[in-house]
Amino acid sequence: MGQVRQNEQSGGRRLHPGGLLRRTRAARLVAAGLTAAALLSGCALGTESGSGGPGATGQAGPAPETKAQRLAKKQAAIAAATRRWGLAQVPLTAPAPPDAKPTLSTRDGFEVEGQEDLPHVFTTVPVKERVVFLTIDDGAEKDPEFLRMMKELDIPYSAFLSDYLVSEDYDYFRAMQKQGTALHNHTLDHPYLPGLSYEEQRHQICGMQDIIEKQYGKRPRLFRPPYGNYNQDTLKAAKSCGIEAVPLWNAEAFIDRVDYREWDRDLHPGDIVLTHFRGTGQWDGTMVDMVRQAMKVITSKGYAVARLEDYI
Ligand SMILES: [Zn+2]
Repeated sequence: MGQVRQNEQSGGRRLHPGGLLRRTRAARLVAAGLTAAALLSGCALGTESGSGGPGATGQAGPAPETKAQRLAKKQAAIAAATRRWGLAQVPLTAPAPPDAKPTLSTRDGFEVEGQEDLPHVFTTVPVKERVVFLTIDDGAEKDPEFLRMMKELDIPYSAFLSDYLVSEDYDYFRAMQKQGTALHNHTLDHPYLPGLSYEEQRHQICGMQDIIEKQYGKRPRLFRPPYGNYNQDTLKAAKSCGIEAVPLWNAEAFIDRVDYREWDRDLHPGDIVLTHFRGTGQWDGTMVDMVRQAMKVITSKGYAVARLEDYI
């Protein structure tokens, strides 16, 4: 583990100190200079339309891009982002989402009484392809670099949010949603739910449904209980305010390692991977460092990250 940590940290340093940062600044200055020049020349040229803008392609009008060209362009952009963000390998591309979503069931040993009428609780989605699902919880750290990284690398993830943290900055998660990330329910205050009455649990879960709907215009279908702890009341309360499924996790990514639920200490097709919105205040690195470490494990084991909502 010391080895992994070392690699991860030296990976982390690459983006920060001295050389690269200075070079980035220099590059930005050059870019700013170019933009100013482009603007000036745009003014000077006056009426000539389309001149000077980035990506201007001449007057003839380009032939429409084929799907293959678009894909190749996207792959090249992701490869460039892989280098920029210091990832060990280019993330693998997930297969197209299934036409029909898999039939879910509750994991053995995770049932409550009357489970058949309640939302399913599971740690792995039943799929055959080598995909895993990245889910990020709570909402403490609000790192703009993380949003940029995930967009540039085109890595899908789902957020499970708790209002006591999210309410510090609803806009951060609005930007996340705009990038295509689904926002799900992780209660108002992150309590240990089995210690609460049905009505108190209902307040925690349904109250968060209302807040996400009000803030982000969409009522979540998915709910994850804090610490993965729940009882029958939890699932009843969740169902009563529109929750359809309760995805837990089968692996957890930390800043320096991945922990596994199974004895084989490995990933499996359809595993849900948990991590948290945490930064240097909570652990020894940034969100970007954590993603770099998690993707190193996921990619080296031959898995692509797919979008949970395409399967549930
Ligand atoms: Zn949590």
